[in-house]
Amino acid sequence: MSSVANRETSAATVEPIAFSLRPGVSLPDWSVVHAAPARQALGAILEAFGIERCFAGYSEIEDRVRQAVLMLYGELGRAPDRVALAEKTGLSADAVHAALASLHARDLILLDDVTGEIVGAYPFTERVSGHRVRIGARKLTAMCAVDALGAGAMYGADSEIRSACRECGAAIVVRTVRDGAELLAVVPAGAVVWNGIHYEGQAADSLCRVIAFFCSDAHLEGWSAARRGLKGFRLSLDEALQVGKALFVPVLAPPVGA
Ligand SMILES: [Zn+2]
Repeated sequence: MSSVANRETSAATVEPIAFSLRPGVSLPDWSVVHAAPARQALGAILEAFGIERCFAGYSEIEDRVRQAVLMLYGELGRAPDRVALAEKTGLSADAVHAALASLHARDLILLDDVTGEIVGAYPFTERVSGHRVRIGARKLTAMCAVDALGAGAMYGADSEIRSACRECGAAIVVRTVRDGAELLAVVPAGAVVWNGIHYEGQAADSLCRVIAFFCSDAHLEGWSAARRGLKGFRLSLDEALQVGKALFVPVLAPPVGA
C-alpha cells in the first residue's frame, strides 16, 4: 500500500459537475470514470478550474472554433493560425478573432501576449512540457500527464506518450489501443500519475504543472515528501486515462440525435 495518501479536497464529496457542451454531449463524461480516485481527482480538477464559471454563456460559435482549433492541431501537428481557422469554420476573420479572445478568457486556449497567435489549446501546448504524444504521424506536446493520456481518445486514435519521471527523469512510455481508450503498455510497469490540484491564473501555469508522471510510487513519495501541503491524488495509469478521456473525448464528440 502506498504511503502517499490521496489528499482529498472537498470535491470528493460533491455531486458530479457536468456542463452540456452540445446536444447529448456533456463535459466531462463521467460514464468513463469508474475508479474512486479518478472520480475524486476529476471532481477536484473541475472545482479548481471553475468549470461552471468557465462555460457560462459558452456559445455555439465558440464551440465550433474550439473544435476547429483541435481538429487542425491533429491535422497539422501544431497550433493553427487564424486564416486556417476561418477556412475550417467558414467564419469571418472578425468572428474567429472574437471567438479566440473569448476562449482565451475562458482559459480553454492560450494566445501569445504579443502576437496573439494560438500557443496552446488543452490538451496541447506549443511550449516544452516534457509530455510528447504521437498520434498517427503527428507528434504533439501535451500540457500535462492527464492531457497526454486523453489526447488520443479525443481523436479516436491510438497514441504513444513519451514523458519522464518528475523525480528522477527516467523515461516513461505509454501506448494506448482501442482508439486511444485503453492502455496497451506502460514502461516502467510501476509508473503512476500525480494529479496535483493547484489553480492560479491559467491552468497551463498552475494545474498542468502539478499533473505529472512518476516512474514508481517510491519516486512519487520522495518528490511529495519534499513538498509539504500538496493537494492531489495518486492515480494509476488507467485511472489517469479515465480522467483524460472524461475531459477530452466530449470536446470533439458529435452531437447525439442531430
Ligand atoms: Zn523516477
